Amino acid sequence: MTRKNAVRQPRPADQSGEVLDPLPKGETYRFACHPGVRCFTDCCRDLHLTLTPYDVLRAKKALGMDSTDFLDRHTVQDTDPTWKIPVVRLKMEDNDVRSCPFVVREGCRIYADRPGACRAYPLGRAVRRSPAGSEGCRIEEEHFLVREPHCFGFEEGVLWTAEAWMKDQGLGPYNEMNDLWMTFLAGYRPGSRENLSPAQWKMFFMACYSLDRFREFVFGTRFLSLFQIPDERQEEIRQSEEALLRFAYVWLAYSLFGDPLLKLRK
Ligand code: SF4
Ligand code: SF4
Repeated sequence: MTRKNAVRQPRPADQSGEVLDPLPKGETYRFACHPGVRCFTDCCRDLHLTLTPYDVLRAKKALGMDSTDFLDRHTVQDTDPTWKIPVVRLKMEDNDVRSCPFVVREGCRIYADRPGACRAYPLGRAVRRSPAGSEGCRIEEEHFLVREPHCFGFEEGVLWTAEAWMKDQGLGPYNEMNDLWMTFLAGYRPGSRENLSPAQWKMFFMACYSLDRFREFVFGTRFLSLFQIPDERQEEIRQSEEALLRFAYVWLAYSLFGDPLLKLRK
């Protein structure tokens, strides 16, 4: 399965003149983005930006918001037409240019925690799980450049390889968490399983996106009396939202797909 990590989609491709250029390993491109470029923040508007669960985690944390408040205020909830799973998109402001709710004159007000697709831009990343071999599944990645007419960042700056750009933009934890998400989704193949029931859809949505509610589900119900979860793991998921999100994928794989990743207490 190949999936493109969320790519910022500005306008329908036929209107935007957007071009996707493959970027083979080791090849370079020139790019710079800073307040001095003439298009500064022009790209932070009119987007159809799908947020991954990790994007939601980082953004709501940066804003000091509860996940439910963040989702209600800043996202549009939908069902992926192919995968039939819940997806959330960043809700643009209701103004003439449909600006991103986080763009200000100085740039992005959640810059340190901006979504992975914003960090990666103009680089796109497509990932694929290699078939299981003696060393298990590996994630293979390919890169491409998103060239849009309104972006003048290609006219200046230094040369980047995909690897150097990703490192510079702090994409390591995003790629790691989004690859886990992709690996989890790979267990769910449209057509090979029943569509989610309404109750399953709600559980999926809560566990992936509404982490504060998922934490209540784990620690505020009989959950821990039903499943064998070692104390140190409980502590880890209590302390770390990243660990809680990883656990959410385990829980969903167990409860929705029947993967034997959790054990009931006797
Ligand atoms: S989240 Fe930040 S970088 Fe991304 S579109 Fe909004 S303002 Fe721009
Ligand atoms: S359009 Fe390109 S160069 Fe201009 S602000 Fe956006 S990413 Fe930076």
